[in-house]
Amino acid sequence: MKELKNWLFPGIALVVFGSLLAALLLEMESVSLEMMMGVLAYSLAMTVMFISIRPKLVEPSHGLPSLYAVHGALAIVLTLSAIIHQLMYFDDFQGLAEFSLTSWAGFFGVLGFTVATLTGMFGLSSTFISKSRRLLRLKNQVFNREINLWLHRLAVIGSLGAYLHLLSFGFLRSNTLFISLASLYALIGIGGYFVYKLSLLKLPRYEITAIKRPTPTLFSLEFTPKNGQLMTYEPGQYVFVRLKNSSLPAESHPFSISSAPNDGANKLEVMIKKSGDFTNRLDELRVGDVATLEGPYGHFLDKDTKHSQVAMVLLAGGIGATPILSILRQQMKEASNRPIDLVWALAYKEDLMLLDELEAMKVKNPNFNYHFIFSDEEVAGYPFGFVTGEYLATIGLEEAYSQSRFFICGPPPMMNAVKGVLAKNGVVDERIYIEEFGF
Ligand SMILES: Cc1cc2nc3c(=O)[nH]c(=O)nc-3n(C[C@H](O)[C@H](O)[C@H](O)COP(=O)(O)OP(=O)(O)OC[C@H]3O[C@@H](n4cnc5c(N)ncnc54)[C@H](O)[C@@H]3O)c2cc1C
Repeated sequence: MKELKNWLFPGIALVVFGSLLAALLLEMESVSLEMMMGVLAYSLAMTVMFISIRPKLVEPSHGLPSLYAVHGALAIVLTLSAIIHQLMYFDDFQGLAEFSLTSWAGFFGVLGFTVATLTGMFGLSSTFISKSRRLLRLKNQVFNREINLWLHRLAVIGSLGAYLHLLSFGFLRSNTLFISLASLYALIGIGGYFVYKLSLLKLPRYEITAIKRPTPTLFSLEFTPKNGQLMTYEPGQYVFVRLKNSSLPAESHPFSISSAPNDGANKLEVMIKKSGDFTNRLDELRVGDVATLEGPYGHFLDKDTKHSQVAMVLLAGGIGATPILSILRQQMKEASNRPIDLVWALAYKEDLMLLDELEAMKVKNPNFNYHFIFSDEEVAGYPFGFVTGEYLATIGLEEAYSQSRFFICGPPPMMNAVKGVLAKNGVVDERIYIEEFGF
């Protein structure tokens, strides 16, 4: 089922491609390979544009990380087909020199897609760049996220260029079915993108009503809706926060909600760790600053686990505890007595926090327990090291392998190591839930 859903958008792109090809063949005897590559690039471009608007209808079943992965894969195929199409018709830039709309629009199409795909691959996604520390450093020094985002938006110019390129051909304009279909797809892809961008202007505004510093590297922000209406969210979900009247840049960043939904207070909390260009400037935030919150997104906690009494093991690494805290707080709010173990891996003593709250949870639910482990500093009273199979055995979690559901969120090396331990001990994928802090 998981694999099947990944084929939804490639399937849509194929339908778009097939319909445009059929429309061409109704009026032509054959379609050349060159033309086919162009039609394929166009079909993919409109599909990729549509995915970029984080369609609310499919996000619940896909999740944004998987939507972005499909978006990226299709964009690579799109760019390759556009380049092949351009090379097959290459005329030594004659058309550009003579100001032909066909050449100029096509050229901007290919250029826009190429730049957007490269920035997506190496600037916005962590898939390729994170493999090389040198590239990562270069990226952070030269191309910060805002520059990458602006370059990535050249995909819109690319898509408009591709549509104009089609319109510039008389024989395509006179093929009513083809041009109607191509225009409809442009309306959904490019039009959808602009409607989405406009909808961001109407997002409800939230005021920062409290800023706390639970540890030297963390900020806990409390957001209260300015119009009185708090968004409905599930434990473990995240929002895109965009500051509006602050000295910080108005770029949108995803942060998990750490408070429990509907806890009676008309506010929600996010906890943020200083980690880069944007988050290192959070000291400049002030109570009273205003932000929009887009979302909620994500499906860390499934309905079945939420409503059942099945045992849960929550494995957090550092700031990865935020969605886990939301789940935990919601369980406590419901006065559930289900067995829950929180394993929270931290680096330094100064990272330790929320002890009073966790102690109070133990009193509320005698079947709840928490375990801290430190990896970079020996801390009196706590174990030292990483979350390994041996460590989980020492805290009595060996029995959990047979029945419990495991929720993991933390740095990728920690998540991979823990997934390895679980797999080795026979925990099936269906009982492992992963939340990643990267796309
Ligand atoms: C679903 C999700 C939930 C998250 N929840 C939390 C949380 O609760 N608390 C927390 O501290 N952090 C969370 N993060 C991570 C947080 O979004 C990044 O640490 C933050 O955006 C980094 O921005 P920066 O400019 O300070 O750092 P940079 O050094 O510029 O970025 C570090 C890395 O963060 C990622 N990143 C940066 N900006 C964005 C962005 N606008 N959108 C997506 N990814 C970006 C990139 O992979 C980048 O390589 C979450 C991320 C995701 C995807």
